[in-house]
Amino acid sequence: QYNGLGDLFTPYQVGLLLRHRLLGNLWKGVGRYVRDPRLRMLFSFQTMYLGLSPKDALWVYGVLTYMESGEGVWYPRGGMHRLPEAIARIAQEEGARIYLNHRVEEVLIEDGRAAGVRLESGEVLKADGVIINTDAPTAYRELLPATPYAHRNFKNSCSALMFYIGYTEPLPHQLHHNVYFSRDFEANLRELFEEKRVPSDPSFYTCLSNRTDPVDAPPNCENLYVLVPVPNLTGEDARAAAPRVLETVIQRVGLKREAMQFVETLTPHEWQAMGLWQGAAFGIAHTFFQSTAFRPSVQTPFRNCYLVGASTQPGNGIPMTLISAELVAERVLGKWGRKA
Ligand SMILES: Cc1cc2nc3c(=O)[nH]c(=O)nc-3n(C[C@H](O)[C@H](O)[C@H](O)COP(=O)(O)OP(=O)(O)OC[C@H]3O[C@@H](n4cnc5c(N)ncnc54)[C@H](O)[C@@H]3O)c2cc1C
Repeated sequence: QYNGLGDLFTPYQVGLLLRHRLLGNLWKGVGRYVRDPRLRMLFSFQTMYLGLSPKDALWVYGVLTYMESGEGVWYPRGGMHRLPEAIARIAQEEGARIYLNHRVEEVLIEDGRAAGVRLESGEVLKADGVIINTDAPTAYRELLPATPYAHRNFKNSCSALMFYIGYTEPLPHQLHHNVYFSRDFEANLRELFEEKRVPSDPSFYTCLSNRTDPVDAPPNCENLYVLVPVPNLTGEDARAAAPRVLETVIQRVGLKREAMQFVETLTPHEWQAMGLWQGAAFGIAHTFFQSTAFRPSVQTPFRNCYLVGASTQPGNGIPMTLISAELVAERVLGKWGRKA
């Protein structure tokens, strides 16, 4: 819980930064330990889970490589959706009412404090406090009254082109998690993060949750999920490139068109429609000046008005956003005299 920059520069924190050289460059750091370019790629690509190039990442994000290979990857039985379902159930047991498919157009602020929200339908919901889960830049630019935060020029993560494929034959060579690397990984990073183009030979990730949870697909079928990192909406339009990228995926995974019963596609435009600024699927980037105390706080400049989620402290990813929720809960319950 950072209350300001002073909390970051304590002797203990600065000691940790210096001792572990946490602000060094990840790509260069890994290069000091391994010579083979394939190993260098293998021990650094995980920052792309944050939509961040390993070449731009701080050494501290080596923790992702460690967590993946040292601690393992977790999957909630029944799928990721079980998590929000469980949270919703507990909230409803505590008396919460949940409105689905009600877009908030404006957060109402009166005398510097949150007073409720106005929905797309025009309906106004009055409230003692508001917690905003829209991406932080979108919230400051579109939902809240103008403040200097609305003009902060955030550096965004990349986006993701998604293909959800119903496949009617077994794919025995696929595991639950599979990573396909570009044949020229450095060119892939350059095209994606520097030139902001849809990579000519992209790296991508495929997932078959039915390996762990067989009920996720009918017998002898596969639920193939494909994630291709592509530029956000400040770069080349990935929607136009989607057919070409899908063809690459088909070739590299060895798919048969006749077994592809359906393909659902998500592009940066759809991420943007879900509230993610510039269609940046992973929120604002984890650069030095957008991490720790520099990242948007869960506390907005308005009283009783909070932000929560990937573009706030501490950052992107399900575990991090749940910590963000804990930080908000601490502040809200502290204010109303209860412990989180
Ligand atoms: C393709 C992809 C794969 C990922 N895989 C993983 C993974 O394997 N493991 C992991 O830990 N993390 C993963 N992540 C990251 C993780 O999904 C995010 O960090 C996390 O979902 C962010 O949570 P959030 O609450 O900030 O935002 P979201 O989950 O985006 O929730 C925000 C909600 O607010 C709603 N909303 C937005 N604007 C409005 C409005 N104006 N009115 C009403 N509602 C609104 C949206 O519809 C949405 O439901 C992945 C992300 C992506 C894009």
